[in-house]
Amino acid sequence: MDEIPRARFVIQTNGTLVRRLEPEYWRRFETVLLSIDGRQEVTDHYRGSGVYRRVLEAARWLRLNGFRGDLVARMTVTEITDIYLDVKHLLELGLFDHVHWQLDVVWSNRWRDFDGWCERSYLPGLKRLINLWLDEAERGIVLGIVPIIGVLGAMVKGERLDCPPCGAGKTSLAISTDGTILACPIAVDARWARLGNIIEDSRLKVVGKVGIGEPCLSCTYLKYCGGRCLYSHIERLWGEDGFRRVCRVTIKLIEGLLEIKGRVIELLRGGTISLKELSYPPFNNTTEIIP
Ligand code: SF4
Repeated sequence: MDEIPRARFVIQTNGTLVRRLEPEYWRRFETVLLSIDGRQEVTDHYRGSGVYRRVLEAARWLRLNGFRGDLVARMTVTEITDIYLDVKHLLELGLFDHVHWQLDVVWSNRWRDFDGWCERSYLPGLKRLINLWLDEAERGIVLGIVPIIGVLGAMVKGERLDCPPCGAGKTSLAISTDGTILACPIAVDARWARLGNIIEDSRLKVVGKVGIGEPCLSCTYLKYCGGRCLYSHIERLWGEDGFRRVCRVTIKLIEGLLEIKGRVIELLRGGTISLKELSYPPFNNTTEIIP
């Protein structure tokens, strides 16, 4: 940070070692993403007993020490998540500016009944979250639920999400310790993700080498989905059928937001809410919008 003072800094952490970095450095981050999955029992289930409490301690410590940037609760969503209760819980803590989540799909084999969970829990919960978001917007409050504001922002501005939305391989590159340039920071062992080396290759040579292909390029939802995730798009670890099952959930989110788009435009025109609050993320802060 001292070497490149004008850069934008973003960190993803569980915050358990937060005090090891001096507050003056924390204050220079534009976005701090803290890994927390929702209510205490959900967070501690996979992350270990006491992690929930320590993450909240870190969030409070950051605020007490003058961090004024974007504090994001970043959730991993699994079969024990109740998306409505867990997102609402994190919002109500009053600590986080935004809440974002990623479905623990495609690379996880922990699911017992993904489709059943979607029908019983996730999709009804998403609907309730969208309704909650709109109710609050009617009162002039924009809840910082990233998948909702990220997609709605693109809809009301007539824009498209980046493809992929996280910018992997285009606006987002990862450099590993041996100088290898990776299209995606989680694809450390994937040949397709190795774009070049930072010593030998120029940015122009590596950007765009890999990207989203079919069936996304022909999909009518691409505009608001962006192909979701480059890694899962290429790897398809759940096969074609699994890929489509995740698409179905993404499409339900997009359709739910298309239903309220008209009312949101009215609220914007009437000045009840502002476009700035729907312009999220303001730069690529690693929230990939589509869960
Ligand atoms: S909904 Fe599925 S097929 Fe359509 S763009 Fe998104 S990931 Fe691709």
